[in-house]
Amino acid sequence: MPDVNGSAGHLRALSVLRELNQGHERFLAGHSAHPHASIHRIEQLAAGQHPTAAILSCSDSRVPVELLFDAGFGDLFVVRNAGNACTSATVGSLDYGIGHLGIPLLIVMGHEGCGAVNAAYATDTGLTPQLHDLVHMIRAGLDEVDAEAQGGLPQAFRRNPIQAARHMVQASELIQQRLAAGELMLQAAYYTLRKGEIEWLGQMDATGALQPSGLDG
Ligand SMILES: [Zn+2]
Repeated sequence: MPDVNGSAGHLRALSVLRELNQGHERFLAGHSAHPHASIHRIEQLAAGQHPTAAILSCSDSRVPVELLFDAGFGDLFVVRNAGNACTSATVGSLDYGIGHLGIPLLIVMGHEGCGAVNAAYATDTGLTPQLHDLVHMIRAGLDEVDAEAQGGLPQAFRRNPIQAARHMVQASELIQQRLAAGELMLQAAYYTLRKGEIEWLGQMDATGALQPSGLDG
C-alpha cells in the first residue's frame, strides 16, 4: 500500500476537512457565519455544483448536516438515511459525488442515541419489511466486530459509522481506487447529541483499516 499522505489529493481533502472543522467550531461557539446562503449564491450555482465534501449521515432530525458544519448552498453533497447505512442507493449516490463531481473528502457520520442502531439490538417484530432489511444490515455490520470488543450499545453507536465507512470501501470499487491513489479521504465521525460536538474517529484506508484522522498533525 503506497503512502498517500502528502499527495495533492490528500492535501486538498485535509484542507477541506480543516475548513469543515472550523465551521463546526464556529457553530459550537455560537458564531455561525451561515455562508453561501444568499439568493446570489443560489443563482451562481444554477449552472452547476462543485461541492467540496460528501457526507453520509443519519436521517435523524437532530443531525442537520449543513448547520453542524456552518455550510451553505452548494457546499456539501449529503446522503442521509436511517442509521447512515451503506445501501446500494448510498453507494450509487456517493459514487456519483466522488466520480462525477470530483469530491476529495467523504465523511461518514454516526450519532449518539441512533434509533436505527437501537432497533438493530431490539427484538421488535413490528418493523415493515424495508425497515427490517435496513436494521438487519446495520446489525450484521456491527456483528462483524469481535463480540469481546463490542462494549454494548454505547459503543455500537460509535462503531456504526466506522463499519459503514468500511462497507463503503468494500462496496465501491471507485472509492477503493480513489483511496489507494490518494485522491480521496474517507473520515468516520461521531456526533454527540448532548453536546453537539463532532468527534473525528479516524480515516479509513483502501484496505478498510482505520488510521488517525490527520486533523491534529
Ligand atoms: Zn440515527
